[in-house]
Amino acid sequence: MIKALIQKVFGRKPRKDDAAAPAGKAARSGLQTYPGAQLGIDPRGISQAAYRTCETLQQAGYKAYVVGGGVRDAILKLKPKDFDVATNATPDQVRALFRRSRIIGPRFQIVHVMFGREVIETSTFRALQSDALTDEHGRVLRDNEWGSQEDDAARRDFTVNALYYDPVADQVLDYHQGVRDIQSRTLRMIGDPATRYREDPVRMLRVARFAGKLGFHVEPATRKPVAELAPLLGNVPSARLFDEMLKLFASGKSLACIEELRAEGLHHGLLPMLDLVLELPEGQRFVEAALRATDERIAQDKPISPGFLFAALLWPQINARWKKIRAEGEALYQALMIAIDSVLDEQAEKLAIQRRIVSDMREIWSVQPRFERRTGSTPYRLLEHPRFRAAFDFLLLRCESGELDPALGQWWHDFADGDRDQREALMEAANPRGKPRTGDAPARKRRRRSRGPGEGSNGAQDSAPADPGHPPPSAS
Ligand code: ATP
Ligand code: MG
Repeated sequence: MIKALIQKVFGRKPRKDDAAAPAGKAARSGLQTYPGAQLGIDPRGISQAAYRTCETLQQAGYKAYVVGGGVRDAILKLKPKDFDVATNATPDQVRALFRRSRIIGPRFQIVHVMFGREVIETSTFRALQSDALTDEHGRVLRDNEWGSQEDDAARRDFTVNALYYDPVADQVLDYHQGVRDIQSRTLRMIGDPATRYREDPVRMLRVARFAGKLGFHVEPATRKPVAELAPLLGNVPSARLFDEMLKLFASGKSLACIEELRAEGLHHGLLPMLDLVLELPEGQRFVEAALRATDERIAQDKPISPGFLFAALLWPQINARWKKIRAEGEALYQALMIAIDSVLDEQAEKLAIQRRIVSDMREIWSVQPRFERRTGSTPYRLLEHPRFRAAFDFLLLRCESGELDPALGQWWHDFADGDRDQREALMEAANPRGKPRTGDAPARKRRRRSRGPGEGSNGAQDSAPADPGHPPPSAS
């Protein structure tokens, strides 16, 4: 009974004898094989962890290959971001072979095999059922049937993402002419593109990501349906969109990817922020500065913070609203809080940003007004703020994009680096004796009543992550 249920949910059980796919079938599918060396794959570029995962599975009698981006990037001589392994062993069978592994995912299970800090995501070959459960637009709601390797190749998105590399035998298996497409730098969808986008509209975003990241040209039939089907992205769960957008921004070529999104018209409706931001010249400057900084960090192998990134992407809108609300007479800090809430509320309808990330974003934003108050103990307390570094980097973006005088960024740079005397001199320079302090007087009067960090005289409040009286983030 339970067995039957499992069969129903997960489809048929993969068999060990899948390993010996009949030659005729392989020929029908157009399978081509290449020695890795012929394609320029440097075996040293394949991580030890991925190699050992494949080797262990193969020694136990299963098929096991590095698949997806790891193979594509190895052929392109790019540094693969990570390595995924595909196998005909079931998650339980994989789990049994590796002491440090765990099964994740409630429905379609994959196994994380751990080697030190490296994780190899190991998934069982899957098939796309012809009778899969879909929504009314054709979006596949359940894609969790196990299948043969050939099935697994056919359900992948692009030909260049459907290559399998056996690192032990140093052999590449190519079911969909992915090698040809890598060589001609072409992004081509496997199967009928419109159907594949209906099954999973996120694939349209993936077109923009891979075209931007790899600098590939998008094959016309792959590009054509996107303009018409773009609105289907509206049916995708917002958490999934967030994950895919994060991958796009973290691709190391985020600017190129955004250009692709715009060229395809995919930025409309997807991210309300991008719609508006990219259409304002000052918003575009700010976002470009942020994405350039992100791409540079990735090129230097530095980690990127999603909180910082999304804080930057939403900032032009928040800033515009902040200005407007202040012009209506609201106090500086309160106005910022209102602007933040309204933008986050709108954004959350489309793209669910995780709560933890939203709280980082709030911190970075809410500290910004304090950079402009270079009086008394405020600058000294700000240096102690746990998120000073991120907030300061954010300030630099505001300077770089022309929103603030670059001298302010330089002042903070010097102040953060300075010794006691240098800091005093900087404070003196920012507040010359006998001159009124910067800022508009009425706003300052009102600010005194507000409860924001840095506004009151209580130093402890200063290091609080955000205004304690503030409602919890509305996006999650
Ligand atoms: P990157 O190096 O940027 O991670 P990747 O190709 O490894 O690129 P992933 O998002 O990690 O991309 O996905 C791994 C593989 O899973 C892809 O190469 C592709 O074969 C398959 N895949 C992922 N998402 C989809 C999808 N939405 N539809 C079909 N296949 C997909
Ligand atoms: Mg990957």
